[in-house]
Amino acid sequence: MGFMLEDRHLRRAFFDAMAAEPNITQVSGETVIAQMPDASGITVRLASGRTLSARLLIGCDGRRSGTAERAGIKRTGWGYGQTALVCAIAHEQPHNGIAQQFFTPGGPLAILPLPDNRSAIVWSEADATAKTISALDDEAYMAALRQRVGDYLGALTLVGKRFTYPLNLTLANAFVAERVALVGDAAHGVHPVAGQGLNLGLRDVGALAEVLIEAQRRGEDIGALDVLERYQRWRRFDSTALALGMDAVTRLFSNDNPVLRFGRDLGLGVVNALPGLRRRFIREAAGLTGDLPRLLQGRQI
Ligand SMILES: Cc1cc2nc3c(=O)[nH]c(=O)nc-3n(C[C@H](O)[C@H](O)[C@H](O)COP(=O)(O)OP(=O)(O)OC[C@H]3O[C@@H](n4cnc5c(N)ncnc54)[C@H](O)[C@@H]3O)c2cc1C
Repeated sequence: MGFMLEDRHLRRAFFDAMAAEPNITQVSGETVIAQMPDASGITVRLASGRTLSARLLIGCDGRRSGTAERAGIKRTGWGYGQTALVCAIAHEQPHNGIAQQFFTPGGPLAILPLPDNRSAIVWSEADATAKTISALDDEAYMAALRQRVGDYLGALTLVGKRFTYPLNLTLANAFVAERVALVGDAAHGVHPVAGQGLNLGLRDVGALAEVLIEAQRRGEDIGALDVLERYQRWRRFDSTALALGMDAVTRLFSNDNPVLRFGRDLGLGVVNALPGLRRRFIREAAGLTGDLPRLLQGRQI
């Protein structure tokens, strides 16, 4: 169905690929604090006082995108009243490469396979419960986790640090502005219930690269608004639809209402019983449907 890839390996691979590309200059340890667009390009000011200019600024600065804010792009969204408790665990029994997700009224608990007998935990709980669990020492934290996971993995031990993330939906009202394009969470931060954040961001990058390269070949200005709007038309509907779909799934499953429970059990039963429908859901979850950019089809632009 898909692959679980640890962020630390992906990050390293991206840095290595950028280092190997002579046309990319990496500037580390800097913060962008201002941006000034004009008719021919855009200049950003860094906290160190240094300035950089280009024809286009791509904002990939996450859910609280300063690039979007400085461009005057407003956001729409809401909190889920849930916080994700995140950690890695080692376990006695093998996971056999199978990801599990338990739906509880507090929120989903995902157990995602990592190499060897290790798994990543993304455990969503109502904010107040998460705060209490988060304040526990490691031993009590693991006891609470064991209660929810059950014993199918045998003995569990904590590996490394614990993290918490408040969960919200945040959609940029526009994905482009004068000399600015947004990609990834800067454009759309979704609930992690289906692990779609990275897939969505990669589709943005593939679509934007395709639009810009084709514009460049035609001799157009890659930072011109009419070029950037092609990217927005391509990506905005897809990511908003997916974000709202994830929102509906989160609400449906973070709920103990017996009518909703009956409805979702029935729905899951139907999907399980119909292999064609199940395959469709799997392709959807793997990000293989819709108008895929060429890079995501493994083709060159
Ligand atoms: C609990 C949790 C679990 C998740 N699980 C999954 C999963 O299983 N699968 C999946 O695909 N997705 C998952 N996601 C979503 C995924 O983490 C995000 O979609 C992804 O990290 C977005 O990448 P990004 O590069 O757009 O933004 P980010 O990862 O937020 O990166 C933004 C970067 O911009 C930098 N930055 C910000 N402001 C400035 C500035 N002014 N100057 C310079 N740099 C700046 C930040 O330091 C950061 O490095 C999960 C998210 C959460 C919260």
